[in-house]
Amino acid sequence: MSTLKLHPALDNGIQPTAANFTGGTLQCLCATDKVEVKIDAQTLHNHACGCSKCWKPQNAIFSVVAVVPRDKVSVTAHGEKLEIVDESATIQRHACKQCHAHLFGRIENKDHAFYGLDFVHTELSPQSGWAAPGFAAFVSSIIETGTPPAQMKAIRERLRSIGLEPYDCLSPDLMDALATHVAKQKGLLPAN
Ligand SMILES: [Zn+2]
Ligand SMILES: [Zn+2]
Repeated sequence: MSTLKLHPALDNGIQPTAANFTGGTLQCLCATDKVEVKIDAQTLHNHACGCSKCWKPQNAIFSVVAVVPRDKVSVTAHGEKLEIVDESATIQRHACKQCHAHLFGRIENKDHAFYGLDFVHTELSPQSGWAAPGFAAFVSSIIETGTPPAQMKAIRERLRSIGLEPYDCLSPDLMDALATHVAKQKGLLPAN
């Protein structure tokens, strides 16, 4: 079971969240002229994600992705190396043209429930203390990127064994937030 490689940040023991952690930097994987992004806050909702769009290291089955308010995210070095992976995607993932690491994903649609939050991979940070992953999202989607369905039972068991409840969409909290946003847009729930 432990031969299953989910993601280095999950397989090598999950690093705990540090109290009073206030942020740090992310760096792309280039050996020189690294793109650097500064994050002036602790991250939220960190989780393993099985979707095919989130960036993950080579040979990882899952990505590990968190969110942070977009006004806390700034490019501090080599922004000229960034490009948007897919302009038509809901989340515009800003990646390094050379090493292809995603530095941040941004939602530009102001009507989206998660507008105002950028998606980041804190494994790209030299600092430790970022929010630890708390659940696994879009687990069934790993089949779409080639994981044999027969492995799913073992993968879900392994996720649970390291404290990450597997969900096939987002976690109930986040699914509720999305649905609440829709109900507010329709005027079925009070706006605030
Ligand atoms: Zn790079
Ligand atoms: Zn994803």
